[in-house]
Amino acid sequence: MQKIQNYINGELIDPTSSEYIDNYNPAKGEVYSLIPDSTEEDVELAISAAKSAFRSWSETPKEIRSDYLLKISQKIEERLEEFALAESIDNGKPLSLARKVDIPRAAKNFRFYSSAIVHFESESHYMELGAINYTLRKAIGVTACISPWNLPLYLFSWKIAPAIAAGNCVVAKPSEITPMTAYLLSKVCIEVGLPKGVLNIVHGYGHKVGNALSESNDVPVISFTGGTKTGETIARIAAPKFKKLSLELGGKNPCIIFDDADYDKVLDTTVRSAFANQGQICLCSSRIFVQDKMYEKFKRDFVHRVKALKVGNPNENGTDQGALVSKSHMEKVLGYIDLAKEEGGTVLCGGKQVDLSEQGLNGWFVEPTLIEGLSYDCRTNQEEIFGPVATITPFKTEEEVLMYANSTEYGLAATLWTSNLSRAHRMANELHSGIVWINCWLLRDLRTPFGGVKNSGVGREGGFEALRFFTEPKNVCIQY
Ligand code: NAD
Repeated sequence: MQKIQNYINGELIDPTSSEYIDNYNPAKGEVYSLIPDSTEEDVELAISAAKSAFRSWSETPKEIRSDYLLKISQKIEERLEEFALAESIDNGKPLSLARKVDIPRAAKNFRFYSSAIVHFESESHYMELGAINYTLRKAIGVTACISPWNLPLYLFSWKIAPAIAAGNCVVAKPSEITPMTAYLLSKVCIEVGLPKGVLNIVHGYGHKVGNALSESNDVPVISFTGGTKTGETIARIAAPKFKKLSLELGGKNPCIIFDDADYDKVLDTTVRSAFANQGQICLCSSRIFVQDKMYEKFKRDFVHRVKALKVGNPNENGTDQGALVSKSHMEKVLGYIDLAKEEGGTVLCGGKQVDLSEQGLNGWFVEPTLIEGLSYDCRTNQEEIFGPVATITPFKTEEEVLMYANSTEYGLAATLWTSNLSRAHRMANELHSGIVWINCWLLRDLRTPFGGVKNSGVGREGGFEALRFFTEPKNVCIQY
């Protein structure tokens, strides 16, 4: 069986413990490879490699760092099919999605920061007293990048690219649930000759590898994407050590549809925004609010469209919904559907596990599920489910729906559908959310700030925000 290796100091190596974790194919429900069960010892090796490489890498001209990023991007593009297939097998997502979204975006992340770093500027402030201040923005040192399983390479590279572009050396930890494309990335880094120690990838559990990175006094910066509880654990460890922290956490995103919305567009897009990647995107619309005049028609047509989504083999053309990432995650999602029923909800479509064992797929498939009749403040409408489950609720007025939308502890991405320009701006201003999409969803310009408010996170990724995060500003004041 294939054994994944850590990538430390430019080499692929086995974990010091010689212990491995089972890696499952979620569509088949069976183990297909082994992941290093790395320990603090492996993390120490990686940190030490990153520390040794730091001076030279941070002093390497940015144009040269930029070239390495571009080469990595090109290699991923050349191997698109291999990466996409690996992502689909590892995560359970449709191959078509990995081919169209995940892998092209991972390549784009490296390409974007290869360009951004050469355009990154620092400020200067002139004083009439005869002095000038200028800001140096220097790489900080060893950076930890910890990422989740839902968009494995996409989110992993979204951290690594700006961190190394800015001149830091990285110890990165992909999710132990989806390690494969991070392993392929380490091979790409070897192929392009990325200097040793600049990027190190240590596989394994969060409570071992992730925890060792959070604890280490040699890691002053942590960029984390994952669950809100895990973010809290990391923050507890990192805060007394005054580490720089970026936390991209959970969401419970509202999709607000007014009567005057472009009907066909809203219908098409909401099927995607609620159920893309089996609803396992932090930006997915999990609470759909529809204005009363349109409600019944929208509900009927939406249910029809959701029922038509094909749950099936992720590797087959025509599959819309693949497998959920793990058995325990599927059980959590099914548990929330039971809770919704207990809370008085009516399942309009879906609601059950899908048995595809006749096709040799003994994995974790769940029907896309829509639930009606719940109050805005019940647990189903307040807690993150992170699966193919959405609720639908009617509303009358702007004030009412704003109250519903802003009622959760989360504030990541809101989607708003209206043709009334004034209302669109007014609502965008009032929504407690780091991102607002109006008449679109997941339309991404990588230059824009990305992140959430409230329990959805601290800090912003994207564009120059990420380059600012991965550098330390120092003001120099000269009087002349
Ligand atoms: P998770 O928090 O369980 O794990 C994320 C990563 O943290 C994994 O690599 C894991 O091994 C590691 N980890 C776990 N415990 C740790 C610890 N004690 N110390 C350090 N690291 C630790 O999250 P998940 O289940 O992989 O991902 C799903 C969650 O991620 C959802 O809540 C989703 O909303 C969120 N998410 C947020 C964004 C965003 O941009 N805001 C994007 C994608 C996913």
